[in-house]
Amino acid sequence: MPDQVERTVVVTGGSRGIGKAVCLAFADPHTSIWFNYSSDVSAAVETEKILREKGARAHGVKVDVRSEDQVKAFFKTLVAEYGRLDVLVNNAGITRDNLLVRMKEADWDGVMDINLKGAFLCSKVAARTMIQQHSGRIINITSLVGVTGNAGQSNYVAAKAGLIGLTKALARELAQRNITVNAVAPGFIDTGMTGILDETAREHILSQIPLGRAGSAAEVAGVVEFLASDKAAYMTGQVIHVSGGMYI
Ligand code: NAP
Repeated sequence: MPDQVERTVVVTGGSRGIGKAVCLAFADPHTSIWFNYSSDVSAAVETEKILREKGARAHGVKVDVRSEDQVKAFFKTLVAEYGRLDVLVNNAGITRDNLLVRMKEADWDGVMDINLKGAFLCSKVAARTMIQQHSGRIINITSLVGVTGNAGQSNYVAAKAGLIGLTKALARELAQRNITVNAVAPGFIDTGMTGILDETAREHILSQIPLGRAGSAAEVAGVVEFLASDKAAYMTGQVIHVSGGMYI
């Protein structure tokens, strides 16, 4: 007899990087994990395989978080299959860095649409099910720079600061339905997103980290796992920094 599914978790952008580590942190035989991705099919297939090896029901689906129709269809399928939705992790994100005067409108819109509007669309659909079941956790992956600002990232910083605003508004709006909404703000984490930096830029950032090293995706995932657990039941509307002390 297959194990009973007790928990359904959705992770956007779960095929690689931090999202993949979050999926792994939730992987057990009683959990159904649904993650989406936008283009890298082989990474998604590999993540699905690893999750299944850990006994989880894993479903990697190509869903663009910018598309309301795709998002709605994705959530409809997963709720139809297991009848509930316990945790939503809004993690999908991109960077398109440039100085303000050189930034193209398409790069502003692209970052806003994926990093902020995507979280709005997914939260809106997920909240319907969570409200009905009178429980749920929404965890938004923002960024240290959404609090501190960063030159050359006005689009990304605005989106991540917006995500903190969304977190606080939804925390207040959904609390009476027993749904908590929190944000995790990573600093400099070793993933594909930061792998594109040249050695000089990397060394410069590392020199600003009190703990003296980059963080791992698993170290961010551990905090997400905590926020989704019973231990964090009385926390809502908070921003938890995971930055090696870059923000104190
Ligand atoms: P990553 O390695 O580049 O992975 C990004 C993930 O998002 C991939 O699974 C990607 O799928 C997915 N994605 C991109 N566009 C999407 C779309 N339109 N619809 C659905 N999925 C989409 O990034 P990461 O470093 O793990 O970052 C994850 C989150 O943490 C992001 O929100 C990022 O801003 C935040 N963060 C990262 C750092 C860091 O140092 N790495 C620091 C602070 C905050 P495809 O591969 O198929 O496109």
